[in-house]
Amino acid sequence: MLYCTKCQRLTEGEKCPACNRSRALRQPRADDPVLLCTVRYVLAAMIGPLLEEEKIPYAKHTLGSSALLGGVSFLENYAFYVPYAAYAGALELLTGIFAEDEEVRMALREAAGVEGEN
Ligand SMILES: [Zn+2]
Repeated sequence: MLYCTKCQRLTEGEKCPACNRSRALRQPRADDPVLLCTVRYVLAAMIGPLLEEEKIPYAKHTLGSSALLGGVSFLENYAFYVPYAAYAGALELLTGIFAEDEEVRMALREAAGVEGEN
C-alpha cells in the first residue's frame, strides 16, 4: 500500500488512481490524511456523526462550487479524510453500515482506487 502525498489517497498499485503518477507516492505514515470518500450532503450528514460516534478523527472538506438557491446550497459534495492509522477502521465501519447503499460503497471504492467489485 502506497500513499500519494499530492492527492492524499492510498493505492495498491504503482500509480496514484487520481493523478495517475508515481512521483508523489511513498509509504503511508500513521497521521497522513487519507481520502475516505466523497459524497453528497445528505450522506455527509450521516457519515460525520457515525465517525464521531466511533471516535474516529476526520476532516471534512467542501468540494467544488456550490449552487446558491435562496441562500441554501444544494450541490455541494464533501470529501472525508481520516488519518491513515484510522482508515481501515473507518472503511470497515462505513462498509458495514452502508452495506446496502450502492452510492456509498461506490464512493468508498472510488476513493481507494479499487476497480470493479470488492
Ligand atoms: Zn496522486
